[in-house]
Amino acid sequence: MAITRASIENIPIHLVTSIPSIETYNNIVNKKYYSTKLEKRYKEASLPKIEIINLHSEILKKESWIANKTINEVNKFLEKGEQVLFFLNRRGYAPFVICKKCGYKFQCPNCSVNLNYHKNLNKLLCHYCGFKSSLSRNCKDNIKCDLSFCGPGVERIFAELKKIYPNKKIEIFSSDTLEKNELANELLKKVEKSKIDILIGTQLLSKGFHFPKLNCIVVVDGDFSSHGYDLRSAEKNVQLYHQLSGRAGREGNFSTIFFQTYTPEDEILINISKNNPNLFLQKELLLRKEKKLPPFYRLISLIISGKNEALIMKFAMSIKLKIPQIKEVNVLGPVLAPISKLRKKYRCRILIRYPKDLFIQKYLSQFLNKIKITSGIKLEVDVDPINFS
Ligand SMILES: [Zn+2]
Ligand SMILES: [Zn+2]
Repeated sequence: MAITRASIENIPIHLVTSIPSIETYNNIVNKKYYSTKLEKRYKEASLPKIEIINLHSEILKKESWIANKTINEVNKFLEKGEQVLFFLNRRGYAPFVICKKCGYKFQCPNCSVNLNYHKNLNKLLCHYCGFKSSLSRNCKDNIKCDLSFCGPGVERIFAELKKIYPNKKIEIFSSDTLEKNELANELLKKVEKSKIDILIGTQLLSKGFHFPKLNCIVVVDGDFSSHGYDLRSAEKNVQLYHQLSGRAGREGNFSTIFFQTYTPEDEILINISKNNPNLFLQKELLLRKEKKLPPFYRLISLIISGKNEALIMKFAMSIKLKIPQIKEVNVLGPVLAPISKLRKKYRCRILIRYPKDLFIQKYLSQFLNKIKITSGIKLEVDVDPINFS
C-alpha cells in the first residue's frame, strides 16, 4: 500500500527493516531500490552468539521442557545479575488436552484445531475464533475423563521455571498478560528497573523493546519443520529470530541466544544460527527462482469457502476445469487450507502461477465474472498472496 501510494503521489519512500522480504531484496539486487545499511548496533554492541542445544543429548524429565544444559548456561547470566528471556510462541498452559481413558481430544467446534488449555482462566480456548469451554467432561464409564495436558505453553514454562528458581522474580509477557496498557507499562518498567530476573515471552516480545540487562535468550522450542505449506516460512522465521536476538546485549555486553531443538540439522535453524541475513537472502532468492516462486513468478490465490467441505471442493474442481488454458500458466490445487475449518467454514485454495511479465489479471477477472457462484459458497481472489494459512 505504501509503495503504491508513494508511486501515485510521486514521493520518495523509505522501507525500514532489519531483514527485508525476498521481494524487496530482489528489488535491491536489480537496482530498482537503493539500500542504506546501519552497519553497527547501538553502543557498538555485537549481535548475540548463537548456540544450539541438542535435546537428543540428554533425557528430559517427565513434563519438563528445559534441559539441564540450558539451566547451567542460564545460571551464568543470572549469577551476574543479568536477565534471561525464555521465548515460546505459544500462549496458555498446554496446546492440547486428551483423555487418557477414552482418547477424547478437546477440539474447537468451529475450527479444525485443538483447544488450548489456559491455567490462569482454567478454561479451554480456541486461539482462532475465541471459543471457550470448561474442562469437565464425562468419560465412557460415566466418571470424569482423566485428562492429560500435552506440550508446553508459556504458562507451563512459567510453572517449570518457578520450580527451578523458586526465589527468582519471573513474569510472563504475552497478549493475555499485556492486554491492558497500564499493566504492560508496569511490567516493562519492572524489567527496566531489574525487578524481574526471568521473562517468558511470545512473539509479542520480539519487537522494539529495549531491555538493558537482558543478555541471554532461550528459544524453548527451536523446531521449524512443520510449516511446509507457506513459501515464506523460512523468511518469516529468519526475520522473527533476528528481531528476537536484537533484544539481547543491547548495552554492549556479551550475549547469547540458545536454541533448544530436536532437529539441529534443520535448514531453517541453520540459516538462523549463521546470523548472516545476506547469505540467507541470496540463497533463498536462488531457491525461489529454481522453484518458480515469487518474485520470479506471480501467484493468484482463489479461496473458496463454505459450510460444506464436499461442496466447496466440488465447486473448486469445476472452476479449475473452466479456467482457460494459457501457455506458461499453471493452475495448482484445489487443496484444503492447512486449517481446513475456521469459524465454522471450510476453505480450500486454487493457486494460479504465471510468469511475472504476463498480465493475466484482466483476463482472469473477465472469466471469474462469468462464473455462477453456488449459494452458500464464497469465492475470494488474492493477488500476490502473503498469507497461506
Ligand atoms: Zn475456533
Ligand atoms: Zn475420557
